[in-house]
Amino acid sequence: MHWKERFPEEITCVRCLEEKEARELDRLLWCEECQVKAKKRASVWGWASGGGIATGLALYIWFGVQPSMDLIPTGWLATLGAAFYLGGRVSREIIFGAMRLRNRRAVEARPPSTGEAPSGRG
Ligand SMILES: [Zn+2]
Repeated sequence: MHWKERFPEEITCVRCLEEKEARELDRLLWCEECQVKAKKRASVWGWASGGGIATGLALYIWFGVQPSMDLIPTGWLATLGAAFYLGGRVSREIIFGAMRLRNRRAVEARPPSTGEAPSGRG
């Protein structure tokens, strides 16, 4: 029995609280739109993290390693580029994974009132 057969045709997405067709939602009941948004958000934070990692590495190279400026620091730039790229990609995956794991409710929704905090798992 397919898991989606347990649900009616119209399902409320847990992220934006909009009614969507069952086939548009995944196992966590995120609609496609919310998955795209989450991925974009994870990308932004991932690249920001990659930039932070590269900056930290640059500071370490500058102050710690103190490379000779007589040489064209192509190798260092390549190292920083790799740190940025790999750091960004890995961070993005981790952030997106964390979003999926936490699966916070209604983060894409505009709540009519913010009376009480959502009770987490339910
Ligand atoms: Zn949604």
